[in-house]
Amino acid sequence: MKIIMLGAPGAGKGTQAKMIADKYGVPHVSTGDIFRANIKEGTELGKEAKTYMDRGLLVPDELTVKILLDRVAKEDCKKGYILDGFPRTIPQAQVLDAELEKLGEGIDFAINVDVPDNHIVERMSGRRACVECGATYHIVHIPSQKEGICDRCGKELVLRDDDKPETIQSRLDVYHDQTQPLIAFYTEKGILRTIDGTADMKDVFKTITGILGE
Ligand code: ADP
Ligand code: AMP
Repeated sequence: MKIIMLGAPGAGKGTQAKMIADKYGVPHVSTGDIFRANIKEGTELGKEAKTYMDRGLLVPDELTVKILLDRVAKEDCKKGYILDGFPRTIPQAQVLDAELEKLGEGIDFAINVDVPDNHIVERMSGRRACVECGATYHIVHIPSQKEGICDRCGKELVLRDDDKPETIQSRLDVYHDQTQPLIAFYTEKGILRTIDGTADMKDVFKTITGILGE
């Protein structure tokens, strides 16, 4: 099973992708998480990616496509995967398509998590991420049991650098300009399913499992 999660930054793609990965036993592949892991480790890739991420811009396609293709070539992706935050541009989608075609494969579903811009600002500014394991919470909607502490690993929860108010609007602009065209791209392929992402996390998940099957 190969799934793509589409939607604005902060729409809940990662939250749902983790739940889908658990239920269906496929790896959750997030290019954002890969970049953040590289930033944490201080790699050259991380240093370069950070210059774009902190400004709310996309990391260049060339770099992003390479890390994604390396990741999905790994053994654990043989049974399928769920892509979260990739593709974010038409050229990224085209490269992915071409690579899958070479293998005689294709994406099964592109799930578009639809959340209007006015909710997005509240979602991103309230997001808190664990410095250690990357788990995400929301200070109002999905709080951790102990404020500021990760339920999973007990480490500190922080506001991501790119979730600061000054960066949120540019990320939304970039989404509308460069990523939203993918909705038409996957509609044309007949695999797009748009769902209401404003519902409660569990209800959104129910809708998704209704699409993917039990
Ligand atoms: P994305 O991966 O699309 O950027 P996240 O999954 O990180 O988005 O979600 C953004 C924020 O919204 C997080 O703080 C998350 O806890 C919260 N969130 C996710 N899904 C919901 C939901 N259905 N209702 C309310 N808040 C949600
Ligand atoms: P995310 O965790 O998905 O919100 O991604 C955080 C940031 O990482 C984005 O704002 C981009 O700067 C960068 N990024 C993640 N995925 C991609 C991608 N597919 N293409 C370009 N940049 C990306």
